[in-house]
Amino acid sequence: MNPIYAEMPTTIFEAMSALARELGAINLGQGFPDARGPESVIEAAVTALREGSNQYPPMPGLPELRRAVADHYRRHQDIDLDWTSEVTITSGATEALAAAILALVRPGDEVLLIQPMYDAYLPLVLRAGGVPRFARLAPPDWRIDAAMLDAAFTPATRLVILNNPVNPSASLFDAASLALLAERAVAHDAVVISDEVWEHLVFDGRRHLPIMALPGMRDRTVKIGSAGKIFSLTGWKVGWMCASPALSRVLAKAHQFLTFTTPPNLQAAAAHGLALPDDYFHEMRAGYARSRDRLAAGLADAGYRVLPSAGTYFLSVDLPGSGIAADDVTFAEIAVREAGVATIPVSAFYAEDAVRGVVRLCFAKQDETIDAGIARMAIAR
Ligand code: PMP
Ligand code: GLN
Repeated sequence: MNPIYAEMPTTIFEAMSALARELGAINLGQGFPDARGPESVIEAAVTALREGSNQYPPMPGLPELRRAVADHYRRHQDIDLDWTSEVTITSGATEALAAAILALVRPGDEVLLIQPMYDAYLPLVLRAGGVPRFARLAPPDWRIDAAMLDAAFTPATRLVILNNPVNPSASLFDAASLALLAERAVAHDAVVISDEVWEHLVFDGRRHLPIMALPGMRDRTVKIGSAGKIFSLTGWKVGWMCASPALSRVLAKAHQFLTFTTPPNLQAAAAHGLALPDDYFHEMRAGYARSRDRLAAGLADAGYRVLPSAGTYFLSVDLPGSGIAADDVTFAEIAVREAGVATIPVSAFYAEDAVRGVVRLCFAKQDETIDAGIARMAIAR
């Protein structure tokens, strides 16, 4: 058995959701909405399932979805992609991450990971034989700076894994921070895997900035997206990777032996969804921002110090700032077992020198769930 897997714990998201199911707790841990998702996208999947083909679609994805991804990014982010050579459809962003890391990392390559980091990154880098190097962000502003990057980049750095907007900190990298990173990626001739699954979940009038659009980055970025996040249908597992033709050819080789393809009906429905008018995206953001504000206000009333949330489905509470001495893992354990509310300890997103006083909560829930979650958080402290 490979010790990377044999000694690996179950992901915190599954561990917490399983505990929440077992204990009947309100689940504000794992990030998934409890609403139905857009009716027209679900209908498009039903129609495609009934009337479309249910056989293997082309390995790089249904042409209509690859074209829709390119059109979508042209419309929303001013990025020009050739759908025939620069877009590969995957089974969720998770598969895109696996394909990109396996395709691009050679044993001994150094890979820069920015902590807090989404939990899938490090095991994939290790499995590919990469050598992780860490930058470390901390609350309340989770900022990156030049000194931090200069300490982490070395002549052996071949790859950077960036997540923006950031899960779990709910922060966004501003243009200056992205420029710092891009300058170093160019100077070191490194590729950036940019996990942008939360690109549409940015609030208060902010705009998502894709690092691919920065000088020198067009042909050294693998931009990853997820229909599950864009359409609040997290179980669908339809994602994509966008990269130059030279990178895409190699990424496709990894993809072909991970999953080969992704269900064609869900691909067709994602293509329909990406073409929805701008109103859909505005309303989705506005709805989640209202949920964020509802949870933040309720937690503040219950005595918690809530950290700002600029994007994603998440906000965090600062435990020491809330007068709570327990560390995040202890607090999350007490909250789920004794108060009946599941949260995620943010130390799970660090491999070393973890931030231990922050827990993450998901606000992508109906008002009743949020209110019940607040009531239980009030008794967890
Ligand atoms: N990357 C990040 C940062 C995520 O938060 C998630 C899921 N929440 C994923 C990747 C996985 O996306 P998918 O469900 O499309 O595989
Ligand atoms: N991305 C989701 C989260 O951060 C979880 C996805 C998963 O369970 N793998 O909560």
